[in-house]
Amino acid sequence: MTDAQTAGRYRIGLDLGSTASKGVILGPDGTVLARDIVPSGHTPAETAARLAARLADGLDIPADRLGAVATGYGRNMARLAQKKITEITCHAKGVLHLHPDAGSILDIGGQDAKAIRIGPDGGVMDFAMNDRCAAGTGRFLEVAARRFDLGVEELSAFCQDDPVGDGDGPELEISSTCVVFAESELVGLAARGAPPRDALRAVHRAIARRVILLLKQVGATEPVYFTGGVAQNETLRRAVAAAAGMEVRRAASPQFTGAIGAALLA
Ligand code: ADP
Repeated sequence: MTDAQTAGRYRIGLDLGSTASKGVILGPDGTVLARDIVPSGHTPAETAARLAARLADGLDIPADRLGAVATGYGRNMARLAQKKITEITCHAKGVLHLHPDAGSILDIGGQDAKAIRIGPDGGVMDFAMNDRCAAGTGRFLEVAARRFDLGVEELSAFCQDDPVGDGDGPELEISSTCVVFAESELVGLAARGAPPRDALRAVHRAIARRVILLLKQVGATEPVYFTGGVAQNETLRRAVAAAAGMEVRRAASPQFTGAIGAALLA
């Protein structure tokens, strides 16, 4: 759409993820008027309608001036969206809008992870996705956090934002590439008296080792912008940067980049 066509229009972007559904509304001048996040639940159609209603609440937007695009796992169920666009396209659009210098994107959500390489013209050159194995996703962090009675949002501070520590005592490793076995390893480490902080640092390093395979697969270029709910975990950002030997930056509003990209494409 040209600027003239989008003038005076409000745009809603919905990113219906497997774990969390995110949405934004952009005003006619492109500013974010509302943003919200709700658990995805089991029926994406209902979640999308509820999320859109929450976003529009109090904004008084005429229906004929609202364009909607849905992305994410549940996008095809969102009846209110005129267009459904893949996560890869929407994430790239959102990240490049916020960070025009992005070389690549690493997105880690609740149940999948993806790497995207951006070309010099801002197009998607290559992407790789893992939606088969939970070991390189937020799921592993959730399982590990629960083991130690922590919430995922507490994990990074608990690890002092540091995936390695000060080197006192043996550096622990979790080597299993499957969350079920990795959880057993974690329980084993704890049972042998490993300090919880060091055991959890090992979890972060294990996830980083998995996700850098995606970066390698696409031939990622720097700087890499880290998105998705899991990007809020600073310990993991540092672990990924160290494992990849690359500059990895947390994207602005990392959990909303897909929704922002969807709205921009509306
Ligand atoms: P999806 O799009 O796959 O539903 P998201 O990108 O919305 O996933 O991310 C959801 C994941 O983010 C969940 O696994 C959740 O545990 C994790 N998460 C949410 N908030 C935080 C936080 N503050 N720190 C670390 N991880 C978080």
